[in-house]
Amino acid sequence: MDNLIICDRCGSDVCYVDEVNQDIKTYFCYGCGFQTNSLMKEGEDFYNTQIEILPELYKDLFHTDKDGKIWMPSAVNIPDQGMVFANGSNSTNWKWSAVKAIPVTEEEKTKYPIPGKQGEYYSYRMDMTTMKNFTELDYIEALTYINVLPE
Ligand SMILES: [Zn+2]
Repeated sequence: MDNLIICDRCGSDVCYVDEVNQDIKTYFCYGCGFQTNSLMKEGEDFYNTQIEILPELYKDLFHTDKDGKIWMPSAVNIPDQGMVFANGSNSTNWKWSAVKAIPVTEEEKTKYPIPGKQGEYYSYRMDMTTMKNFTELDYIEALTYINVLPE
């Protein structure tokens, strides 16, 4: 079940908490676009994995809250709608970038093969010409731009 709480990072009141089980909760803030969970703490395996796979900018933007949970920027990627991700050179110079997905046309489909599936092609692709940047606290605007909004 979803609950709304005050975000421990930005202080907005649109942070969704989802209880995975009695030990693990996930947090996703629609105010600042950052997310974390009960395992995103120094010393946890989950955290160590994130350190290995996240882009440098995401690590630059880590924020540790009063409980020791480490918040990181979210990354939304919905193949038939678009994506929103943190984009920039460092933690003081970045924006949310939103990119819309568009249908792949019959003529261009061979340019977008699905890896490992011979003869199958993606039906949508990210159209980088639609990329638009949003400031940190306009995260919700970025989601609106690609028609993805929290319920
Ligand atoms: Zn927040």
